[in-house]
Amino acid sequence: MKVLVLNVGSSSVKFEVIETSLEAIENNTEQKLGRGLIDKIGMTSATVKFTRPGAEPFVDTPPIWDHAAAIKQVIKLLTHPEHGILKDASEIEAVGHRVVHGGEYFSKSVIIDDDVAAKIKDCFELAPLHNPHNLKGFQVMHNLMPDIPHVAVFDTSFHQTMPRHAFLYALPYSVYQKHKVRRYGFHGTSHRYMIFSLERKFVKKPRAEFKAITVHLGNGCSIAAVDGGKSQDTSMGFTPLEGLIMGTRCGDIDPAVVLYLMGKEEISMHEMNTMMNKFSGLQGLSGSSNDVRELTEQMQQGNERAELALRAFAYRTRKYVGAYHAALGGAHYIAFAGGIGENSVIVREMVLENLEPLGIHLDKERNRSVPPGGGEITKDGSPVRAFVIPTDEELVIARDTVRCIAKTQK
Ligand code: ADP
Repeated sequence: MKVLVLNVGSSSVKFEVIETSLEAIENNTEQKLGRGLIDKIGMTSATVKFTRPGAEPFVDTPPIWDHAAAIKQVIKLLTHPEHGILKDASEIEAVGHRVVHGGEYFSKSVIIDDDVAAKIKDCFELAPLHNPHNLKGFQVMHNLMPDIPHVAVFDTSFHQTMPRHAFLYALPYSVYQKHKVRRYGFHGTSHRYMIFSLERKFVKKPRAEFKAITVHLGNGCSIAAVDGGKSQDTSMGFTPLEGLIMGTRCGDIDPAVVLYLMGKEEISMHEMNTMMNKFSGLQGLSGSSNDVRELTEQMQQGNERAELALRAFAYRTRKYVGAYHAALGGAHYIAFAGGIGENSVIVREMVLENLEPLGIHLDKERNRSVPPGGGEITKDGSPVRAFVIPTDEELVIARDTVRCIAKTQK
């Protein structure tokens, strides 16, 4: 079946059409038909990019005022007589929606009905920048395509298997009961993709038989400890701010710093939030960029702050790798994904070098020459093996969509 995967953000809509089925998932014969991004929604000219395999991308800058118009544009692009990929929108048999927060309601992907929509809405408070747009995306699409199943795939659901001792903050227990304040974790689709790829492609062993540390380093960064395919811990918490240093987010800091700075700088909660989310991380430390490519170049030209930012970023990641190795009682595998995890030789080297005492024998040459489909970066015989795995969150969403539908048809 042709599944449309939809990822609606605050000012963008990402989409992809994937031809898939239960058999295709098993045999690895899924087909990607086309994908696109509509960005800068609500500004005078949005940017539209639509890519089909083997063809030049179609690029346009029409005015797109709101998310409803953007989603209609998606259908237009898909069915466009020249550069489209469908004769008619009715060829789409299901839609998979990325939904950031499922709270404690959802430990799996689900077909969206009124009850599910109400629960997604109930999680608005937990993800005010994401869930309202995700739900809006569903509502608009559902109006356009009311007769096909729409499935919600949550960033948080994979981490619902974390035990209480891992997900609770050591605040009064009543805070968890009253306000749902706990660690939820995010990037679940990417962490799951890494586990799936380890199982099927890289180590060819059932996930029940291994423990893995999955490291997603993109614009947002998180790391997970996974035992038998189940998330045991992850670095992002109540929000995606906790944990690793990210492009513009600070990750872990002493919470007292927040109170101290708000007083010292006389700034509001909103300003403090903006500082930690938009002006910190690699950007804040380097003062020049949040992009690892640029920082690496600057470091090679002798820029000390760029080097500091990269070292701090890698050091934090390395600390978490060590912590999760212990939390799991010894991981068998480590996987790197995301724009930085897949591409930055230097970051991976800084994270894993000289860890032979922990059983991780990095092969620097392999680390420098990872093939496009991913591969191993540790030496033959390394007790813990590390891999680079190009992630594919859209594929996970399409697969879940097919599986959810298959379950209801049984
Ligand atoms: P998102 O989390 O938004 O999906 P990505 O996973 O694409 O983002 O990661 C984006 C980041 O990946 C960029 O900010 C950049 O730092 C890093 N990146 C992308 N390509 C490279 C590269 N060739 N070398 C090093 N870092 C890269």
